[in-house]
Amino acid sequence: MNMHADLEWHDGLPYSTRFQDIYFSASAEDAQHGLAETRHVFLQHNQLAQRWTSLPPASHFTIIETGFGSGLNFLAAVELWLQTAPPDAHLHVVSIEIAPFTREDLQRAHAHFPQLRALSAQLCAQYSLLHQGFNQIELPEYRTSLTLMIGDVATCLPALTATADAWFLDGFAPSKNPEMWHQALFSAMGARAHAGTTFATFTSAGLVRRGLQAAGFTVEKTAGYGQKREMLKGQWSGKSSVLAPSPRAHAPNVAVIGAGIAGCSTAWHLAQMGCKVTLFERESAPASGASGNPKGMLYPRLNTEKPLNDGLALRSYSYALKHYTSLQMASDAFQMCGLLQLGGSAREQKRVRKVAKRYSHSKLLKALTAAEASVVAGVEIASEALFFPEGAWVNPVAACHAYLRHPLITTRFNHSIGSVVQINEAWQLSMAEKPMQPLFDAVVVTNASEASTLLPDSGLLLSPLRGQMGVIHTQAALQSLKTILCGDGYVTPMVEGQHALGATFSPGDTSVAVREADNQANLDMLASLSPQFSDALKAHFTAARAAIRCGTSDYLPDVGPVWPTALLQQLATISTAPLALPAANGLYVHVGHGSKGLMTAPYCAALLARTICRTTGMNVPLLSEQAFWLGLTPQRQVLKALGMRWSGIGS
Ligand code: SAM
Repeated sequence: MNMHADLEWHDGLPYSTRFQDIYFSASAEDAQHGLAETRHVFLQHNQLAQRWTSLPPASHFTIIETGFGSGLNFLAAVELWLQTAPPDAHLHVVSIEIAPFTREDLQRAHAHFPQLRALSAQLCAQYSLLHQGFNQIELPEYRTSLTLMIGDVATCLPALTATADAWFLDGFAPSKNPEMWHQALFSAMGARAHAGTTFATFTSAGLVRRGLQAAGFTVEKTAGYGQKREMLKGQWSGKSSVLAPSPRAHAPNVAVIGAGIAGCSTAWHLAQMGCKVTLFERESAPASGASGNPKGMLYPRLNTEKPLNDGLALRSYSYALKHYTSLQMASDAFQMCGLLQLGGSAREQKRVRKVAKRYSHSKLLKALTAAEASVVAGVEIASEALFFPEGAWVNPVAACHAYLRHPLITTRFNHSIGSVVQINEAWQLSMAEKPMQPLFDAVVVTNASEASTLLPDSGLLLSPLRGQMGVIHTQAALQSLKTILCGDGYVTPMVEGQHALGATFSPGDTSVAVREADNQANLDMLASLSPQFSDALKAHFTAARAAIRCGTSDYLPDVGPVWPTALLQQLATISTAPLALPAANGLYVHVGHGSKGLMTAPYCAALLARTICRTTGMNVPLLSEQAFWLGLTPQRQVLKALGMRWSGIGS
C-alpha cells in the first residue's frame, strides 16, 4: 500500500485528493500567500519571534505539529529560528503526518519559495526512506532537529514523550477531516504542555475551541490571514502533570569512554544537544578497534522473524543514511552506490523471498531476478537478490574524525580508564588507580567487550567476535562492478583502483593477528558472489585487518542506563513483575553492535543522547516509543534471569 499523499497539482499548488483540501493557499496577486499565512497563523500567534529573541543561551525549544504536509510551516519556523534565537540554542520540531509527500512532491511544492531554497535542499537531501513511526532528520547548520512521525495523530501522539513549548495545530479543515479533530487529540496536547505552552491553529471551528478549553487551554479568537476572518490561539492554563522545563535544567557534563563508532557518535549526539563531552580513549587515536576498518557496509539484514531486530535494522539504516549525509562526508568516505543482497544458499533464497514479499510495497528495496540483478551489478549474478538502491559503504575512521570536530567535544587519548565510581550525585573516573578531576554528571561506557570488565557488577554478557577484512587491487573481472555485493560477506565496487572485501566471523576468538587462512576465506567468499569472480581467487591483498567486535546473545546492542546487579536483585525480592526500572543514576552503556555498528550506533547514540538530556531535566523529545527503547536495556539478560519483566524507565 502506498503510504504517500495522493496529490493533484492545481495551478502548481498541491491538493489532497483524499481530504479534498489544499495544503497552503495562494492568491493570483501573491505567490507567497501560503508562506505569509503560515507566518501569520503559526509563528506570530505563538509569539515565536519575541519568545526566541529572549531565550536564555543554550536553550531548547520544542514545537509539536499535527500535519507536516508540504513542510512549509517547518521551513518558515526554522528560518525565523535562525534569525531570532541565540546561536547556541536548539530547535526541536516534532511533526506528525499520516500521508507524507514523496521527496519529488516536496521539492515541487518548495519551488514556490526560492528564499527557502537552501534549507529545503538540506531537508530534501535527508527526506527519504520514511517509515511508520519516528523518523529523525538532523540539520546541524540550522541548529534544528526534525522528528517526523509517520502515522495517524491518534496513534503517534500516545507514543511520543515530549513537551511542547508551542503547538502548531494544523491538519485539514475539521469539516474535511473530522477523524483527526477529536477530544483525544486536545487531551494529548494538554498532557504534553506546561505553563508557558502556546498553540495556534488556522481554524476557528467551535468544536476545536471547546475541545481545547476542555483540555485546559485558554482560547482566544483572533483575525485570520487574508480572506479568513478568524483563527484560534491560546495558552495552557490547566494543571499539567508535566513540569515546565526548569530554568535550572542544564546540559550535563558527560564522560564517554571509548572512541570507536559507538563512543564518537554518542559524544557527537550529546554535543549536538549542548552537552560538554570529554571522550577518553586508551589508544592514541579514534577508531583503533573494530571501527578502524577502511570500509563498512550499510544495509539492513532483515529476517522478518524478530520484530525488534528488524525494527532496529530498519530504523537505524534509514537514520544512518540521513545522518552520514548530514555530516557532509567526502565521496571517498561515504558512498550510496546501492547494494545487492544475494540469495545464494537455499536458506538465503527463502529469506530473500520472505523479505521481498514483506517489503515489496516500500521504497526500501526491490526484489530482482538473477538477470535483473546482473544488470544492476554490472557483473553476472546467479541468484535472486534484494536491491537496496540507497545501500552504502562508509569509512568509519573518517566518520569518527568528523564527529570529533564538534567544538563541545574534548578528546583525551592515551587514557586508560580503570574504574568508574559514583560520588554523591556525580561520577569519578580513575586511571592507574588515581582518581581524576573533574567529576561528571553522567558517564557512557562505550568500550565494547571491555565494558563488562570496567563495570564488573553490571552483569553485562558480551562476547568477542573476530573479523578479518581485506583490500585487493582491482582486476578485469571486478572492474565493471557497480554496486556492493553481499552474500556471506561483501565486496565493494572499485574506489581508487581497489576493492574492500570481508569479513570473516569467528565468535570467541580474540586474536587481531592477520591470518593467511582468513584472506583465503575472504577470496573464497568473493568467488561465491559471482560466477565471473573465479579469476579473483589469485588476488593479491594490499591490506588486511583483523579486529574484535562485541556481540550480544540476542544480536541487539546494549544501550541505556545500568544499575548494580545487587540493586536489581533486591528489587526482584520485593516485586516480580512488571517492574518500573529505577531512575537512571547517570551511568550508561552503549556497546554490543556486533558487525553492524556503523549502521546501528548513530541511531542508538541519537536515542541515548536524548534520554540522558531528559534525565537531567532538559526539555528534549525522546526519539522512540518506550517499548522499543526498553528492548535495548543493557541488563535485559540479568532482568530475565531474575524473572523480572520491566515496564518503564523511572526518571
Ligand atoms: N503543516 C503543513 C505544511 O506546512 O505544509 C500543512 C498541513 S496540511 C493542511 C494537513 C496535513 O495533515 C496533511 O498533510 C494531512 O495528510 C495531515 N493529516 C490529516 N489527518 C491526519 C491524521 N489523522 N494524522 C496525521 N496527519 C494527518
